[in-house]
This record gives sequence, structure tokens and C-alpha cells, in this order.
Amino acid sequence: MKIRKNDTVLVIAGKDKGKKGKVRFAYPKDEKVIVEGINFIKRHTRARGRVRQAGIIEQEAPIHVSSVMLLCNRCSHPARLGFRFLKDGRKVRVCRSCGEVID
Ligand SMILES: [Zn+2]
Repeated sequence: MKIRKNDTVLVIAGKDKGKKGKVRFAYPKDEKVIVEGINFIKRHTRARGRVRQAGIIEQEAPIHVSSVMLLCNRCSHPARLGFRFLKDGRKVRVCRSCGEVID
């Protein structure tokens, strides 16, 4: 998966289209991410034990990685990503617009 935790992404689909946020969690298996402030859903909860309070809580729900694009730090464009191998053999992500190494 090209998107990782702590990446800054732009939402390109869905109700939060056009918003930016930081990836809080990435779920590579499901190809989903949770982005700060994006895709809030309301959840009704019941008091369970002492820990949870009853009521409505708002929480970010995971969105599919295809709905977000990584924002490049350098050219600040939504980056089309490529991969490159460094001399030490590490595989890194690069921005295809400006060539910046993102990892
Ligand atoms: Zn770039």
C-alpha cells in the first residue's frame, strides 16, 4: 500500500472530497486508512461497564486508499507515486511530479 501512517493526504472522493488530513491509521490488509477529521460518523453507544458513556460519539471511519492521494511535501501537489531503490537497497516512494523522495 502506498499510503502510510502520518502521511498527509488529499481526499479525492466521497463526502469529504477536497479536504486534507493526516493519516492516523493504515490498514494495509483492507487497503483502508483513517484520516484525521475525515469521514466522521456518528455512533450511538450504550454504557458498558464503567468505561463507556452512553450517547452519541463522533468518530472517523476508515476510507479506502483509492479515495485519497498523498500530498507531496515539496511541490504540495497530490503526488502520483513511484518507487525507487536507494543505494542501500531500501525501496522508497517518490513523487512523480518533482522527484522528491517521500520516505
Ligand atoms: Zn512533489
